[in-house]
Amino acid sequence: MSETVDTYRVAVRALCDFTARRGDLDHRFTPAPSAREGIAGHARVVARRGADYRAELPLEGEFREAGLRLVVRGRADGYAPGEACLEEIKTHRGDLGRQAANQRALHWAQARTYGALLCRAEGLARVTIRLVYLEITSGEETRLDETVAATELEAEFVGRCRDFLAWARQESAHRRARDQALAALHFPHDEFRPGQRALAEGAYKAAATGRCLLAQAPTGIGKTLGTLFPLLTAMPRQGLDRLAFLTMKTPGRRLALDALARLGAAEGQPPLRVLELIARDKACEHPGTPCQGEACPLAEGFYDRLPAARRAAVASGWLDRQALRELALAHRVCPYYLGQELARWCDVIVGDVNHYFDDAALLHGLAQSDGWRLGLLVDEAHNLVGRARGMYSAELDQARLNRLKRSAPAPLKGALARLSRQWQGLVRESGVAEGSAERPAYGVLEDLPGGLVGALQGLVARLGDYLAEHPGQGEWQELLFEALAFGRLAERFGDHSLCDLERRGRGRARLGLRNLVPADFLAPRFAAAHCAVLFSATLSPAAYHRDLLGLPEESVWQTVPAPFRAEQLEVRVRSDISTRLADRPASLGPIVATLAAQYRRRPGHYLAFFSSFAYLEAARAALAAAHPEIPQRGQTRGMDEAAREAFLAGFAPGSTGIGFAVLGGAFGEGIDLPGERLIGAFIATLGLPPSDPFNEALRARLQARFGRGYDYAYRIPGLTKVVQAAGRVIRGPEDEGVVVLMDERFARPEVRALLPEWWGA
Ligand code: SF4
Repeated sequence: MSETVDTYRVAVRALCDFTARRGDLDHRFTPAPSAREGIAGHARVVARRGADYRAELPLEGEFREAGLRLVVRGRADGYAPGEACLEEIKTHRGDLGRQAANQRALHWAQARTYGALLCRAEGLARVTIRLVYLEITSGEETRLDETVAATELEAEFVGRCRDFLAWARQESAHRRARDQALAALHFPHDEFRPGQRALAEGAYKAAATGRCLLAQAPTGIGKTLGTLFPLLTAMPRQGLDRLAFLTMKTPGRRLALDALARLGAAEGQPPLRVLELIARDKACEHPGTPCQGEACPLAEGFYDRLPAARRAAVASGWLDRQALRELALAHRVCPYYLGQELARWCDVIVGDVNHYFDDAALLHGLAQSDGWRLGLLVDEAHNLVGRARGMYSAELDQARLNRLKRSAPAPLKGALARLSRQWQGLVRESGVAEGSAERPAYGVLEDLPGGLVGALQGLVARLGDYLAEHPGQGEWQELLFEALAFGRLAERFGDHSLCDLERRGRGRARLGLRNLVPADFLAPRFAAAHCAVLFSATLSPAAYHRDLLGLPEESVWQTVPAPFRAEQLEVRVRSDISTRLADRPASLGPIVATLAAQYRRRPGHYLAFFSSFAYLEAARAALAAAHPEIPQRGQTRGMDEAAREAFLAGFAPGSTGIGFAVLGGAFGEGIDLPGERLIGAFIATLGLPPSDPFNEALRARLQARFGRGYDYAYRIPGLTKVVQAAGRVIRGPEDEGVVVLMDERFARPEVRALLPEWWGA
């Protein structure tokens, strides 16, 4: 009888992380170069090597024991056959002497593991193992060599594999059990809601064909479950390693976790490991403390206690924010960094879109290093263009720099003074007037200010050194991160972005790098995923998202018909009203009359949306003066969570009134007021972004690139907000209500074409 042998594959990096990390968490030797800087640094070193140098050498080896075949693989950074020297290249910033000993030990473990695999592959008796540390700013290399016998490396490799074996066996069993359970997964309700099945079929097909799907599906059909369920059932059939459910806001994460709980994951049936990823500032137990052993008790001995915490975490399987925190504290490790570690071992990761799409995204990094076959789900995807633009934009603040300069410690004074001089030069030569806080002056710059970017790099180097010696200096740390973010984007500056300067008075300028076309950054991310399902109630027109997000050509578009009847929603257009800036005073009378007439006809809860707080306040005052009997309340600037909840609590069954809100703000999407809690919406704006110099530059760029400047910069983003806001009214098959669109432009065919068909408007 032949023995059944399970195969488990692990990357060299993951194997070494697992077996060779000990001691404290230490982020003093940071900020580490970004992944992209790392790649550029590797290329720089490789370019200095000889013609026979073999860069990115793929290596693989296996270890078998008791029915398990462990396959270890990875790419060694470089091999110089002439000197039998294998190199592991690491990039760093600042003084190498500050590197923690456990970090160095991890690097040796990786290099020696590659050494063992190389000796096997090439039949070498000995090899020189070299750690090459490249200082990212100066380009200087530090080389650490040791020549080791193949037998020694082999013994170490075997030891490492043995240490990992129990875990690999458990992982292999988990994967089998997971896939078996998912193959038999049942939909948790008796039947699909109308439209939900069509969405689920579309999502499944996307996973089966390895494509991106843009699915526009109306509110109320259960999109979260309608996309999660098919992707989970596709996991075993398509060999998907991980699913990432990515959301725009925290409530979206809760919805995904609730859907997973309904599928049984919270009770371990199916045996899915579910992890909720949260931001560091929300997860940190010791805010304001440096993340290092000497300062934070949850960083001290982190890697020594990690194995037990990791075992407990995978045994539990359900790791939402609360569960992860309790488990981390029980094991005295940092919840945030435990979450980062567990991302490697969990099946479904629920997080923010930036966990996969931003420049240094954790999930993208893991997918690359561990070779995941990854399924992506992106909720509220109509916001991804805006969110991604934010991820690839950065700003520098002259006033902050000047303030910090005054209290600067001696080692930073020179670099800050140089940067400050560059600022003054830039402001002088930019041609942008001085402006004021009330009326800022604005200009788009033709080119990146090279002198200032150079001075910024100098400051980064000084700040890195200074903070390594003086950790926990919040403001300087913030400045460093700001400078780094700006510097990284400056290196990649191109047609996808613009550079602008805003002046709010003397010494109060802001220099911005603003991304306009996120496609150039996002396209490789979509290409790296096996499949992606982007869904929202407002994704039309598909070309807008395809162009601006960089979705692959063969992406599929699906519109799930609304399960609502046109009779449920009365849509009226008041084309006799103009809400253009110049016409706003004159519009108040007809708007107030419309609100009051509708309220009299059917008293109940309504939302009225305006383009700005000023317009909103004017309309409120006009309504109060003309119809003091109509109860009303309004959104105010900068409402906190409690104030927002109080505003929404006003929409209680049994009472009535009109709530005033700003279109595109906190109440324009993502709120759920079913039945009598909301019976109508008035929309007194097309939601168009203001026609200012920035938006005009955006329009020109999008026109040049896609031939649809006005649509892409103004009309589509505006109408998306309108449809989102109007979508608050009909939340289910029983709802009935009215939407009044107030502006003459709503009568135009090109605008109507962007409204949902089922409205029959
Ligand atoms: S608890 Fe806070 S300070 Fe401590 S390691 Fe975690 S994130 Fe850093």
